[in-house]
This record gives sequence, C-alpha cells and structure tokens, in this order.
Amino acid sequence: MVDLSDRVGLCAHCRHLRPIESDRGATFYLCRRAARDPRLEKYPRLPVHACPGYDRVENSQP
Ligand code: SF4
Repeated sequence: MVDLSDRVGLCAHCRHLRPIESDRGATFYLCRRAARDPRLEKYPRLPVHACPGYDRVENSQP
C-alpha cells in the first residue's frame, strides 16, 4: 500500500494543505498558502519534494 507521504510528498504533513473530496470520491490537494504566495500552485503537482512555503505540522502540539 502506498503511504500518503509517498503520493503527496511534503504536503502530506504541511499545515497549508487542505484535502478536498469530490462527489466521485477523488481527493484533490489544495494548497491554501498559494492564495497569498505567488510562488506556489493552488493545486501543486504531486508529489512535492521541495517547497518554499512548506510548514510542517508538529505531531507533538497539543
Ligand atoms: S505550502 Fe508547499 S508543502 Fe505546503 S501545502 Fe502548499 S505546496 Fe504543499
């Protein structure tokens, strides 16, 4: 089975990612930061291996 991180890359654990489910059950990965950062794509080509806007979600946060 393919892990989400393998398929999506950095976005899988970035705080700016918003997964969107279509009516047909497909999942699209929207980058919310792209709305205010022109370097980024609203729907980045996956998997993302490097990104200037990457902001990791820390699992240890309460
Ligand atoms: S900022 Fe970069 S790593 Fe984060 S969701 Fe957007 S494209 Fe993905």
